[in-house]
Amino acid sequence: MNDYIKMLSEQDKLSISISPNRWQFEENPYIISGPCSVESEEMIVDWAQKMKRIGVNALRGGAYKPCTYPITKEIGNNGWKEGLREDGLRFLKTAREESGLPIVSEIMDSNQITESTMDCIDIVQVGTRNFQNYTLLDALGELDVPILLKRGTWGTIDEILGAVERILVRGNEKVAICLRGVVGMPSYRHVFPSIRWAPDLMMIPALKELCDIPIIYDPSHATGYRNFVPAISKAAIAAGADGLIIESHPNPPKSISDADQAISLMTLMNILDDIK
Ligand code: PEP
Ligand code: MN
Repeated sequence: MNDYIKMLSEQDKLSISISPNRWQFEENPYIISGPCSVESEEMIVDWAQKMKRIGVNALRGGAYKPCTYPITKEIGNNGWKEGLREDGLRFLKTAREESGLPIVSEIMDSNQITESTMDCIDIVQVGTRNFQNYTLLDALGELDVPILLKRGTWGTIDEILGAVERILVRGNEKVAICLRGVVGMPSYRHVFPSIRWAPDLMMIPALKELCDIPIIYDPSHATGYRNFVPAISKAAIAAGADGLIIESHPNPPKSISDADQAISLMTLMNILDDIK
């Protein structure tokens, strides 16, 4: 334990700022699944109904999509400007109405916290790239809406706890940490080109030792490769994760974004069988 965290623990400051967390997901493990991006109304509504049928707890779907390369993905994808944005949110709302599932979706900036956006999202995803966007975190701390805070690919344990604290101290107690892989695994890429991150599973027990914030593990971004998603899903649950967020798609290789890591309905059902 580093000196700062140790000092906070000894003085009980960590428990004042971070614990006890008064919020938990209503089911454990809590499973969030759906496509990386909302691609059309028909697709997301149909997929939401399938997710509901197989026992998924919440539907994910990106409407605002921060892409590493902002232009290349747009070519040939009608109207998809780093996500379908406002249209995508509307489609998610319809998917919620048709399936009854709560919606998990990312917002990228505090100016996207509007009545119409919040009307479509039940759990606000903070993306990796915004893990230390303090203006955004401060603004989310003012809301009474659950926040799924994704760890930055560079995030240390202090930075994770600090980002959580930033939301909690403003009054929003509904925070879950999402672990989604970190920098530093170049040894895989020549064989598995889509692998970009290292799935840091040890952060699950490490955080559990310090706080009782729910932890959702993201085996999709952590692995970057669909064949590894089932193994890392099970490993994350075994390590103590409270739930998973998994990218799934009706035709995984055709996903508009993150195609290499998307899994099929059948694979998702097998994972659920193994962990539920
Ligand atoms: C996503 O969930 O699709 C996403 C963009 O994730 P991350 O912010 O972890 O890269
Ligand atoms: Mn994705």
